[in-house]
Amino acid sequence: MSAAPADGARPTVRADLMAALAAGQTYDIAIVGGGATGLGVALDAALRGFKVVLVESHDFAKGTSSRATKLLHGGVRYLAQGNVALVREALAERATVLRIAPHLAQPLPFVMPSYHWWETPFYGAGLMAYDLLAGKAGLGATRLLGRGKTLELLPNARADGLKGGVLYWDAQFNDARLALTLARSAAAKGALLVNYCRATGLLDDAGKVVGLQCEDAETGARLDIRAHCVINATGVWVDALRQQDGEAHAGDGRSPTRPMVAPSQGVHMVVDRSFLAGDTALMVPKTADGRVLFAVPWLGKVILGTTDTPRNDLAREPEPFRDEVAFILSEAARYLRRAPTPADVRSVWVGLRPLVKPQDDDGDDTKGLSREHTVLVSRSGLVTVTGGKWTTYRAMAEDVLEHCFDKALLPRRAAGASAHFRLLGGAGPMAQRYSIADGPGLHSYGSEQDRVQALPGAGRELAPGLTEAMVRFGARFEYARTVEDVLARRSRLLFLDAGLARSLARPVAEILRQETGRDPQQAAFEALADKYLRLPV
Ligand SMILES: Cc1cc2nc3c(=O)[nH]c(=O)nc-3n(C[C@H](O)[C@H](O)[C@H](O)COP(=O)(O)OP(=O)(O)OC[C@H]3O[C@@H](n4cnc5c(N)ncnc54)[C@H](O)[C@@H]3O)c2cc1C
Repeated sequence: MSAAPADGARPTVRADLMAALAAGQTYDIAIVGGGATGLGVALDAALRGFKVVLVESHDFAKGTSSRATKLLHGGVRYLAQGNVALVREALAERATVLRIAPHLAQPLPFVMPSYHWWETPFYGAGLMAYDLLAGKAGLGATRLLGRGKTLELLPNARADGLKGGVLYWDAQFNDARLALTLARSAAAKGALLVNYCRATGLLDDAGKVVGLQCEDAETGARLDIRAHCVINATGVWVDALRQQDGEAHAGDGRSPTRPMVAPSQGVHMVVDRSFLAGDTALMVPKTADGRVLFAVPWLGKVILGTTDTPRNDLAREPEPFRDEVAFILSEAARYLRRAPTPADVRSVWVGLRPLVKPQDDDGDDTKGLSREHTVLVSRSGLVTVTGGKWTTYRAMAEDVLEHCFDKALLPRRAAGASAHFRLLGGAGPMAQRYSIADGPGLHSYGSEQDRVQALPGAGRELAPGLTEAMVRFGARFEYARTVEDVLARRSRLLFLDAGLARSLARPVAEILRQETGRDPQQAAFEALADKYLRLPV
């Protein structure tokens, strides 16, 4: 493989990655799924010195992990449900991510505006409990606000009937870039990670899972990977691999594998900053139908969302329902001075939450389902992990490895390194917090900015915050293969402004063609961008 720079970031030459995968080694751990969960396990295991391989069928974070509300949070709503342990763990993890990836995450103030006299003291008391739970991991004190201060922080909040508000602190992050950084950091620690490589089956030896069958999505080539321990971290798709595991061992008297995931869809819509100026997010604690809604400033735009709608098909690109769009727009209109209309929406995107069903539950009320993660180890040794949230990916990884040790799939090695290991780009003076008002740009590369700037095209801006050099960096160091990989996940333009992203497909495709020598799927991206622009009527 080509030489790695001094700080460990490795070039991601596809031919080298596939050759390494085909080399026929036996790994300690083979992970299926390159979202937050699988990537977190890959890095944790690599930091403990295990030999790790991870395969992702599409691109890293192409699934749910690029479609979050971008909050690192304890979950105010889970506190209201009395789930203190979950909140406390998430608050500690929030602080960890802020520490290990300062270029991709930052504290964010939220204001909950009150339109009834009782709301400020009522929600204020709850949020003070949130502060107490955070303890040393707290980011700032909750404060009760009068009407004037509320309008100062949220100049676009609806003023008539406003009584005051509550200020509290959480954090926000760049989900897909954090995923890529986890992948690259794991690779820097010796793990082999390959995108566009699907696990098609499990290898079985005398009733035990001993590896994976895979297929290179680019060439159709098939290969086997042998490993002492196989982790199924495929998000809402975990039941497919579980089913194969169950079928392989049918006839041994066990009951058929019951689905463990109840997917729930969440829609986000992005509008311009003029709808929510200032550096403060707006939180609606109880919408007309009892949910939580956010308006969050993010990379120069505002994210509105989200919804919680049961959905049983496992679409790769789920589409919003008309009711969901109408719900978000009407709730935004209740709280914002200027109501966004469908014409104001720059991008609409949908993610599927992998909520875990109790094994005796067939209902479809996903609002009531657990937000905690679950780890199951089958009798054949397949370790499945799903549920949880982005914020807790690291704690989930530690729990997965604990299960592997408990079942003697791996020799026990101490936990904890991942809480202190600075992710790539996250150490040094260039790894600074960006400003809430900043759009996309070099700040997302942290201490790797110089490396980006050294590539051809550093001075050629394709759009604000995206240069030719960044596209080349994506192809050379960040596993990018297609226009979508660049414009959806290395840069976040598809999510921020799908029309702008569409207009960049051609120049990005030309650069990628030079870098990879293959078809970067420009037309497919243009069709996808059209989808992100289209609201259901
Ligand atoms: C609308 C919404 C908003 C959210 N907001 C937040 C938030 O603000 N903060 C927060 O902390 N959490 C949030 N979450 C939760 C968080 O995004 C998820 O918990 C997390 O991203 C799940 O990651 P994952 O790796 O388990 O799943 P995924 O990201 O879906 O990863 C699974 C991967 O497995 C791959 N895969 C599937 N089958 C195969 C196969 N056979 N071979 C190889 N690969 C395969 C998929 O392509 C996919 O990339 C939100 C979720 C949703 C839906």
